[in-house]
Amino acid sequence: MRVPFVDLHAQYLSIKDEIDNAIQSVINDTAFIGGKYVKEFENNFAKSYGIKHCIGVANGTDAIYIILKMLGIGPGDEVITAANTWISTSETITQTGAKPVFIDIDEKYYTINEDLIESKINSRTKAIIPVHLYGQVCNIEKILTICKMHNLFLIEDCAQSHFSSLDNKLAGTSGIASSFSFYPGKNLGAYGDAGCIITNDDTLAKKIRMFANHGSLIKHEHDIEGINSRLDGLQAAILNAKLPHLDNWINKRIFNAQLYTKLLNGTGDIITPSVRENSKHTFHLYVIRTKFRDQLKDYLISQNIDVSIHYPVALPNLKAYEYLNLPTEENSITNVFQNEILSLPMYPELSSEQIGFVVSCIKDFFAAQ
Ligand SMILES: *Cc1c(COP(=O)(O)O)cnc(C)c1O
Repeated sequence: MRVPFVDLHAQYLSIKDEIDNAIQSVINDTAFIGGKYVKEFENNFAKSYGIKHCIGVANGTDAIYIILKMLGIGPGDEVITAANTWISTSETITQTGAKPVFIDIDEKYYTINEDLIESKINSRTKAIIPVHLYGQVCNIEKILTICKMHNLFLIEDCAQSHFSSLDNKLAGTSGIASSFSFYPGKNLGAYGDAGCIITNDDTLAKKIRMFANHGSLIKHEHDIEGINSRLDGLQAAILNAKLPHLDNWINKRIFNAQLYTKLLNGTGDIITPSVRENSKHTFHLYVIRTKFRDQLKDYLISQNIDVSIHYPVALPNLKAYEYLNLPTEENSITNVFQNEILSLPMYPELSSEQIGFVVSCIKDFFAAQ
C-alpha cells in the first residue's frame, strides 16, 4: 500500500464534472482577469464568513503583504508573529521595511504563546500576526485584548485554518483584516496560486482592492501606485465549485484525525495533537511529536508512506534571520519541537484502511526500538 501525503487528484475525481464545467465556463466567457467568476467567489466567501468584504489576490503571501502595507506599516516599525510558521508570515513584514519579531510557540497547542507577547511590545510595535497553525485556532481573545490595550493592529494569518473556530467564532473574524491562501494543498485549494483578504473595514477594503490592482479601481485612473496581485477567473471558478464541499471535506479531516489519535494512543513516546477546548480544529495538518522523529520518518518513507515536517527549521534559525542575532533561549519550545514534529498523511479522501496501515507501521517501528 502507498499512502501519499495529500491526494489532490482523488479530490478532483470526486467532483470532476463540477470542476470541468467551471473551467469551461470561464473559457467560454473569456473571463480570465476580474469578471463575474471572481466577483461571485468574493461574494460567496465573504458571505460564508459573515464579513463585508473579500478581496481576491494572487496568493496568501501577497495577502499578508498587502494588508500590512495598506495599514501603513513600514520602516521603523516592528510586527510580532510566531517563531514556527511558514516564511510568508515574516518575509512580508520585512518586505514592507518593518522588522519581524518572533514569539515562541505554546507547548500544548503549537500556536503563538500569548503569554510571551507583551514582553516584546515597545513603541515601535504596530501589529501582531497570529497564525492559526495546522488548523488550530490561537488564543485569539487574549491576543485581541493585548492588541486593544497597546493599540496594535490584529492581522490573522488563516492560510491553514479555513473555517476553523473557537467558541463558535470563526478564525479570521477578530482582527482588522485576515489573509487566506488557496495554494492547491490548503484545505480550500485552487489549481495554482490564489489567495484572498477579508475585512469589515470599508476604507481598508477599498485601499486593498486598489493597491492589488496597480492602484486603480477604475480603468486608467491611478490614485496611487500599486502592485499586480489578482485572483484570476479560472482559479475563482474552481474555488466556487469547491466551496460548497468544504464543510464535508473538513469533517472528513476531523474524522481522520480522531481515528489517528485513537489508534496511536500509547504508541512509543508519541504525543498526538491537543485540540483547544470549544474549538473546531480543521486539521490542515496532523502533527505528532516523538524523540525518534528522524528515524521514524525514514522508516515510514521506506514503507511508502509520505510524511513531512512543518517546519524542520523554525524561522529564527533560518539563515535569512541570522542577522537578527537572536539568543537561542528565546524560542526554546520551538527549538526543541522543530526536531520532534512529524506531519502524517492527511486529506479528506484518506481511507480508514490507509490510516490503519500508517499506524501499524508506526507501531512496528516502536516495537523494534
Ligand atoms: C501557505 C501559507 C502562506 C502563504 O500562502 P501562499 O498562497 O503559498 O502564498 C502563508 N502563511 C501560512 C501559515 C501558510 O501556511
